[in-house]
Amino acid sequence: MPAQSMEELVALCKRRGFIFQASEIYGGLQGIYDYGPLGVELKNNLKNAWWRAMVYERDDVEGLDSAILTNQKVLLYSGHEATFSDPLVDCRDCKSRWRADHLESDQCPKCGSSNLTEPRPFNLMFKTAIGPVDDGSSFAYLRPETAQSIFTNFKNVLDSTSRKLPFGIAQIGKSFRNEITPRNFIFRVREFEQMELEFFVEPGEDEDWHDRWIQERMSWWSEQGVNENNIELLHVEGDELAHYSKATVDLMYRFPHGLEELEGIANRTDFDLGSHTKNQADLSISADVEENRDSNTRLAYHDQQANTWTVPYVIEPSAGVDRGVLAVLNEAYTIERLENGSERTVLKLKPHLAPIKVAVLPLKRNHDEIVETSRRIKQDLQRLGLGRILFENTGNIGKGYRRHDEIGTPLAVTVDFETLEDQTVTVRDRDTMAQERVHLEELSAFVTERVR
Ligand code: ATP
Repeated sequence: MPAQSMEELVALCKRRGFIFQASEIYGGLQGIYDYGPLGVELKNNLKNAWWRAMVYERDDVEGLDSAILTNQKVLLYSGHEATFSDPLVDCRDCKSRWRADHLESDQCPKCGSSNLTEPRPFNLMFKTAIGPVDDGSSFAYLRPETAQSIFTNFKNVLDSTSRKLPFGIAQIGKSFRNEITPRNFIFRVREFEQMELEFFVEPGEDEDWHDRWIQERMSWWSEQGVNENNIELLHVEGDELAHYSKATVDLMYRFPHGLEELEGIANRTDFDLGSHTKNQADLSISADVEENRDSNTRLAYHDQQANTWTVPYVIEPSAGVDRGVLAVLNEAYTIERLENGSERTVLKLKPHLAPIKVAVLPLKRNHDEIVETSRRIKQDLQRLGLGRILFENTGNIGKGYRRHDEIGTPLAVTVDFETLEDQTVTVRDRDTMAQERVHLEELSAFVTERVR
């Protein structure tokens, strides 16, 4: 049963150190967040799970980590300068600004006035000056999606890996959009991370691959603990379709504030490679692209045997890391009523996503031998490479269990007087609260099986 409200999640994130408002001590910065000690672990675990599924477990995808600052020409030819905008309206009375397509009526949500301007396009890209003199002549964009640099590196990757179609390039990284009204915690923010795959296929095979990727991505989210019943597929149509897309299916997740996009899976056709390539006239490009006078590279696939050039079609599953974190937190957040009438909050994260895998808790904080044994157990478990193992010397086991339930630690290992005699520890399971004694010789195998 997911969380009931966004407020509960926001409170948990702040209280336990998952997510903080950025620049908070100076009043914050709207639509910008920082990830705290537990948030960074959760976020990294989600990204690692994506990378594993996309790159390591497949043999047809390569990775990339490209720069955030992007040459203006890239975003000119990609169509972002002309079209990457949202409709902006101003309230003439209270001077607030709104995204026209998010207004529920023709009145200002802040002051109720109907004195609103006509919508006008507002470009969402952030610009920044390059070099020591900011005279406006030399600027770059902060990329609004990671995808474009995958396209501009298409030939570099192809030449250095000798890939054949179909193959993909995967990238995880920051993107920036000057959203008119950032809101709903980390759902709509101005600085966020994306996990994007551009999968290049033969024209004609695109629709089949598009369907396959929708299925793949649904089952991946389910492996992260996102219940498939909380996801709906939305076939994007008409004006809503991005300028590069032939077809887009959005995975819409039931967030605490409503059903909204978690990931978009688009058929970008040959639009992007076609737009960025030189000598377009010599290639058969189906998308309606601007003439390119600036690119010095042909972004096409050369079949050496047939001596033909193809501009591949692209299927793009594009997921937001921050929206993913929000979805898995929402799914995991559980309030349980216990037999004694009390309640416990437990974050039932999948073990591979949990920020801390095992908490090692000495029963007595001042007992040298117990503390020393606990430290040794922590070091031994840490070497297994499962993620963060925490030695926590507070001496208050009950409080430790409650805290680790709330932050989603799957296992707690308690070291007590018995341990010193018979080399066994108590291992407590987060979800069932069941406790069992495990011999130290078997602890590594036990933990590995439960946490991996
Ligand atoms: P929306 O319609 O919600 O603004 P979008 O259709 O513009 O999203 P895409 O351009 O398809 O989003 O970007 C791919 C993914 O990047 C989205 O599915 C989402 O998870 C993430 N994303 C996009 N914009 C934001 C944002 N402002 N804050 C957080 N994540 C975002």
